[in-house]
Amino acid sequence: MATLGPASTPEDVLRELVRAGVDLFRLNLSHGSQEEHAKTLQRVRRVAREEGVHLPVVMDLMGPRYRLGRIPGDGRTLNPGEEVTLGPQAPDVELPVDVEILGYLEPGERVLIDSGLIELVIRSKQGDRVRAQVVNGGPVRTRKGINLPDTNLPFDISEKDRSDIFFAVREGADYLAASYVGEPAHIEAIRKVVAEAGGRIPVVAKLERATALEHLDAIAETADGMMVARGDLGVEVPLYTVPVHQKRIVSAGRRTGRPVIVATQMLESMIEQPRPTRAEATDVANAVLDGADVLMLSGETAMGKYPVEVVRTMARIIEEAEEYARSLAKGKSTSLQPLGPSSVRRSFEMDPSAQEDELALDVPDLVSAAAVHAADRLGVRRIAAFSQSGFTARLVARYRPAAPIVAFTQEETVARQLQLVWGVRPLVTGADVGTLDDVVQAVERHLLEAGLVAPGDRVVILMGHPIRDRPLTNLMRVHRIRPRA
Ligand code: PEP
Repeated sequence: MATLGPASTPEDVLRELVRAGVDLFRLNLSHGSQEEHAKTLQRVRRVAREEGVHLPVVMDLMGPRYRLGRIPGDGRTLNPGEEVTLGPQAPDVELPVDVEILGYLEPGERVLIDSGLIELVIRSKQGDRVRAQVVNGGPVRTRKGINLPDTNLPFDISEKDRSDIFFAVREGADYLAASYVGEPAHIEAIRKVVAEAGGRIPVVAKLERATALEHLDAIAETADGMMVARGDLGVEVPLYTVPVHQKRIVSAGRRTGRPVIVATQMLESMIEQPRPTRAEATDVANAVLDGADVLMLSGETAMGKYPVEVVRTMARIIEEAEEYARSLAKGKSTSLQPLGPSSVRRSFEMDPSAQEDELALDVPDLVSAAAVHAADRLGVRRIAAFSQSGFTARLVARYRPAAPIVAFTQEETVARQLQLVWGVRPLVTGADVGTLDDVVQAVERHLLEAGLVAPGDRVVILMGHPIRDRPLTNLMRVHRIRPRA
């Protein structure tokens, strides 16, 4: 996934990014105007049509972010041990902050400024003035960002986020990314605004707060996907814990069938240089081996000097790591265990309180596990999943089969949304299929037409049968592609 920005929004660059390996785009709504984002989205849709690919757009909401107010002159330097006053903009206040956060600050809590470079500890409160002692000092300037990792802040949806959610619905965004969520209720609050705007957009929860990590399993159950937002996470929790949190979040996604994006500073040095560091290349490969669904580029593609090269580099590292993962998986299929019914929802944006009958999910999961078992043992060329809503494809992807998954759906939106899921290639078919033989024939025809199989190849087909009644996944079939008549 590539974040779009000045370096990548021209149409020719966008096209090159897609050809270099981008499967999804992110628009960071913290920057730029809605008008600009709308134009970019239309450009993405045009490139997708012309390139014959499905390109989802993730709109990333700003979330509740706080900043310093105006500091006169060139700012000031804070020295360790010094005490300073935080408060509303006033002559006696060294560090002006939004009045709305002042009431929530308590003695003993940390105030982090400028991505955590500056650290203060709150010593006392008096009225709307807060006294804090500098732990790590340095220069501070107007509008620098503030993180409050220990403070129990409310999750209010700002006017900006509200307006951006309405905008996302109007423009047909494929996903919303929710910044700074701390618990499942925050995801529900965003869904409520989406519904108010008359839309249905799946929500990816960005894991970047300590409280969110405490509610990881519940957030995984509630969200439609998760992002390891390592930038802010590394400010909110000790940096040395980030790698382990990444693994925990990816595992929670696997367990619950929620796609996980690993984000931020993946190939950071390529903002300026044409080649990454060895450590960055290793980080990309390790995220693949952790089991992430998607790896994200931020500044590298938004404002870096080498947007296309960085995508090529990332794609190459991913391919190499996946090849290695496949070689490790070979021959292991006999020990494949069903992961359990989980709470994989039938549709991405289904109301979680309207869960499918829990028991009913057992059969689709068992069929998916059996399908992957068979596919790996037989070394099939493709797994063909009939997946109107994307459900079957997501169930199968949880098992990380060696063969690519081709998801047959009739809906363009579902096809785009499935780009977030590991190893899935969506195919939109208008097929209104009848008998099982008709289905098999249709699979054969579409796979051959797309050049994804050759006569003689084996495939595993998965579906809810009979397809016209749209039952949950209940059938798998091993099939050898016949010579074309
Ligand atoms: C992050 O903090 O890692 C992140 C992805 O969020 P943003 O880019 O919105 O700061």
